[in-house]
Amino acid sequence: MTLAQFAADVAWKSLPLLGLIMLAGLAERRWPAEAQRWRGRAVNLGCMAVYVLGFALLQQGTAALTVLAVNGAGGGWLALPADGWHLLPSFLVYTLVLDLGEYAFHRAQHRIPALWAMHSLHHSDTAMNATTTDRHFWLEPGIKMVTLYLAVGLLFKPDPVIVGMYAVLGLYNVVPHMNVRWGLGRAAFLINTPQFHRLHHSMLPQHYDCNFAGLFPVFDLLFGTYRQPAAGEYPPTGIAGGDVPAGVLEVLAWPLRGRLRKNGG
Ligand SMILES: [Zn+2]
Ligand SMILES: [Zn+2]
Repeated sequence: MTLAQFAADVAWKSLPLLGLIMLAGLAERRWPAEAQRWRGRAVNLGCMAVYVLGFALLQQGTAALTVLAVNGAGGGWLALPADGWHLLPSFLVYTLVLDLGEYAFHRAQHRIPALWAMHSLHHSDTAMNATTTDRHFWLEPGIKMVTLYLAVGLLFKPDPVIVGMYAVLGLYNVVPHMNVRWGLGRAAFLINTPQFHRLHHSMLPQHYDCNFAGLFPVFDLLFGTYRQPAAGEYPPTGIAGGDVPAGVLEVLAWPLRGRLRKNGG
């Protein structure tokens, strides 16, 4: 496969995500949580292009390594079939365990300085909306592949249908990033919502280290990081000092931006 074919393939696979982000944009215009300028979306889409296109190459390499390691260990430990009545329990087990893994990885991203140096790019958005979903540093999927996804690969041998269903469910990640007024009040523990996840992205110190959940806030409840949003609570988002990437170079080298700035005068 040539690089152009590879890029076209990645772009093609990103179409459902882009479609969903556009749909979300319509709702964000109608019911915005805060007034935002459209320029921020261009920065996010640029970050996303770097993330999903250019460095899908890296993910490709680490995915191959992960598959090799899993095959070397004799395949996943627990089979998750998708035939007949197996489908629903298999899907539930796979989804719950992966979401727990995502929760743990996310806690590590905030706890370990080297991981936070990358994850802070996601948090640096001072105008969070659906386009923030894939505003991530390009190296992160590679790290996830050789840690979280390797562990899940060793644990489970899922039917490809289960993996496909989980990938579709993963598109839900767009929803909690939307700039809309939607929360579930006292039922906030049921599923991640824009209001619940906004507290995780909050710039205010009283909100630091809460609401790490990907899909199910029940993991925040279980591990003591749950914070139920108050009625009408939609705090400003961003990292301390409002630090944002100054250009494409800083998106590409986000963890090294301090040095770049010093050298640049
Ligand atoms: Zn985070
Ligand atoms: Zn987020």
